[in-house]
Amino acid sequence: MLLAPSTELQFIKGIGPHLGGLLAKLGLHRVSDFWFFFPRRYDDRRALPSLNRLQAGPQSAVGIIQAVQDTPTKTGRSIIRARISDETGTIEAIWFNQPFLKKSLKPGVWIWVHGKWERNSFTQRWELAVAEHELATGPDVRAQLGVGSVVPIYPSTPGLSVFRLRHLATQLVSPESLGAIHDPFGPDWLSSFSLMGIQDAIRHLHFPQDRERYKQAKHRIIFDDFFYFQLSLAQNRVDWKKIPKAPPLRVPGPLHAAYLAALPYTLTQAQQDAVTTIYQDLAKPTRMNRLLQGDVGCGKTDVCILAVLAAVDNGLTGAIMAPTEILAQQHYNRLTRQLGGLGVQVELLKGSLTAKTRRLAMERILAPGPKIIVGTHALLESDVVIPDLAVVVIDEQHRFGVDQRHRLQEKGMFPHCLLMTATPIPRSLMLTCFGDLDKTLISELPPGRILAQTQLVAGSELADIYRFCRSEISAGRQAYVVYPLVEESAKLDLKSAEEGFELLKGLFPEFRVGLLHGKMKAAQKAEVMAAFVAGDLHILVSTTVIEVGVDVPNASIMLIQHAERFGLAQLHQLRGRIGRGGHAAYCYLVPSTRGGQYNPRLRAMVSTQDGFKLAEYDLALRGPGDLLGKRQAGLPLFRLADLIRDEAVLKQARQAAFKVVELDPHLQHPAHQRILAELLSRYSRVAQPN
Ligand code: ADP
Ligand code: MG
Repeated sequence: MLLAPSTELQFIKGIGPHLGGLLAKLGLHRVSDFWFFFPRRYDDRRALPSLNRLQAGPQSAVGIIQAVQDTPTKTGRSIIRARISDETGTIEAIWFNQPFLKKSLKPGVWIWVHGKWERNSFTQRWELAVAEHELATGPDVRAQLGVGSVVPIYPSTPGLSVFRLRHLATQLVSPESLGAIHDPFGPDWLSSFSLMGIQDAIRHLHFPQDRERYKQAKHRIIFDDFFYFQLSLAQNRVDWKKIPKAPPLRVPGPLHAAYLAALPYTLTQAQQDAVTTIYQDLAKPTRMNRLLQGDVGCGKTDVCILAVLAAVDNGLTGAIMAPTEILAQQHYNRLTRQLGGLGVQVELLKGSLTAKTRRLAMERILAPGPKIIVGTHALLESDVVIPDLAVVVIDEQHRFGVDQRHRLQEKGMFPHCLLMTATPIPRSLMLTCFGDLDKTLISELPPGRILAQTQLVAGSELADIYRFCRSEISAGRQAYVVYPLVEESAKLDLKSAEEGFELLKGLFPEFRVGLLHGKMKAAQKAEVMAAFVAGDLHILVSTTVIEVGVDVPNASIMLIQHAERFGLAQLHQLRGRIGRGGHAAYCYLVPSTRGGQYNPRLRAMVSTQDGFKLAEYDLALRGPGDLLGKRQAGLPLFRLADLIRDEAVLKQARQAAFKVVELDPHLQHPAHQRILAELLSRYSRVAQPN
């Protein structure tokens, strides 16, 4: 039977609406979906032992059922025994607690069984305790049971047997069916990258014949995963360089020197280098599209202020976008303080402004004249169009989705863009998610920065820690006490932070304790934060709202409660809040239970201060979603590729993709038509020719 790739499965003879519905649950709607529905594991049935040759331990075997006996125990549990035989002998197989099997285990039916071959300690007879089995009747039972081959085991869903899926696979992944696929890569390409053809790759993944070809098949699918994603990035980049030119800026302007003169310190070499690179970008008519990475506290803010000042120096406007209101407010305060004397207009736009304040702010933003605008994602709202916007900085970019740049573009604004992040992104992930960006790293912390000593604290040690906090605070320092935020249960969080607040007030009656959490009104939050910054509060009990960017140099102690509930990147960010004022800093991780002492993530925190090492570790442990935060939409869905395991393939695929786009930016060459079609089917939004 010849099946078109787009044929809907439910209309295929023998499938129908019921089975079709079950398949849909697995995401299988059309014939072509099945091609890429790969087995979750394989079962090697090439050399099954005959029944007289079973050996103690896990065994698989095939035979025909002779008799079945159901003997409930006195306690009402079911035990089913079946006698199974082949040419060489008969064995007894046994199932516990599955009374429903009585219906299907019938004499005369062929069966493949997998389980443990062992001597029953009570009866002293050998028997097979069955863990898995498959049944077959009719012609060709041995083939149905996969005897003599490596059998694919597919991920399944209730009501749909592994066996049924395998049967469908033989039908849908047949050579005739696969004949409908045209490999987007021609023979030259395949041989130059040592790739297996796509038809063979699919076939060998479903029905592997030997290890070597299976490996090549897998390699091909992984290559494709990376290749098309990198292709979409390469095209984004072409797109970015092409669409309306940003104004080339004259740099450095007078505000550059004025700003530096007003700073109480000089920039580190790494900060200066970053500024130089950014100025080079800004001076060009193509838009800057740069990611500035640097560990917590390395001084990215000064670099980004200089970038937006370059806009103002050219009579244009710059904007800084921050992920939280607290951080936007902090940037705003710092800018008004530092730039007030230089005569630069600074405006704040955030979600929580009253209608009237917002209207007034918008009027000032729309009025002609160069300025700096600080805001939250409120800046991305569709009605906010900023005239003469030349430079945009997105601070702590990993807290936003990946698409802010396109949001700006959609609103008709085409500024130079600088993305900043303190979450170190491992190289493999970097190539994957940010492959279209230019990158700069600030690899040095300002002098005098004290890395926080980090310690895992057992409950019994808390009293000592509190005593130590008391002496530090008495000596003029401030402390954070952080509680986790669990997304599923905002109420529960609130309770834990609030309880913590009461507890600490009781423990430290002589100090002023403040509470900060996400459920508070923006004005309240700003007030508490301002009090902590001013030193009016000694201890700040908080949820993770302080995680990013908050800068209170006098704070030197951080106690993190239920520490095992935080991600590594998050813990490292939190720890970066302290030790900014030249005082020795202490970070205490308090796990919820005693077992937490052995938590590998917490131990990693204690053992290293290197944000990159921690990020690599986090990526390995929990995958990219966690590292980048839930909001990082746009992570590619790979069929088989794994960012860490397959980094070498990633590099190869990336080179190939960038080369194609270099030769043929919009894939218009006839030889690239199939590649373009596959790209569009995987990533619908890609650059189109004018
Ligand atoms: P981050 O890179 O995490 O955003 P910030 O820009 O908030 O770091 O800087 C952290 C702290 O270091 C701030 O208090 C800032 O004033 C200070 N700082 C920045 N650059 C220097 C420098 N070159 N020398 C001394 N202190 C600096
Ligand atoms: Mg910052």
